[in-house]
Amino acid sequence: MPIYDYRCPSCGITEHSYPMREAPPALDCACGLPARKLVTAARLGKGSSTAMRLLDQTQSTASEPAVVRSPPPAAPNRPVSRNPLHATLPRPGK
Ligand SMILES: [Zn+2]
Repeated sequence: MPIYDYRCPSCGITEHSYPMREAPPALDCACGLPARKLVTAARLGKGSSTAMRLLDQTQSTASEPAVVRSPPPAAPNRPVSRNPLHATLPRPGK
C-alpha cells in the first residue's frame, strides 16, 4: 500500500498507509486536531511484488492480527534430539 503524509498543526508530519483511492483528505490526529493530507510523490516501493506483499503482510500483522478459530494442531509426539543429555533437561509443565 502507498504511504501518505499528513500534517498536523501541532504534531507535524506523520505517515499513514492506505489503499489507493481510500486515503482520506484529512484525518484526526492522535492529539485531536485535524491533519490534512499533503501532496507528495507516491512511495510505492522499489521491490518486487512478492517483496512488497511480504512487507504489507508484515506491517498488517501489527494492526490486523490473523484470527484463528481453534488452537493449532498438536505437534507429533516424537523426539527432537537423540542426544541422551537433552533428556535430562527440564521440560515445560513438569
Ligand atoms: Zn497532532
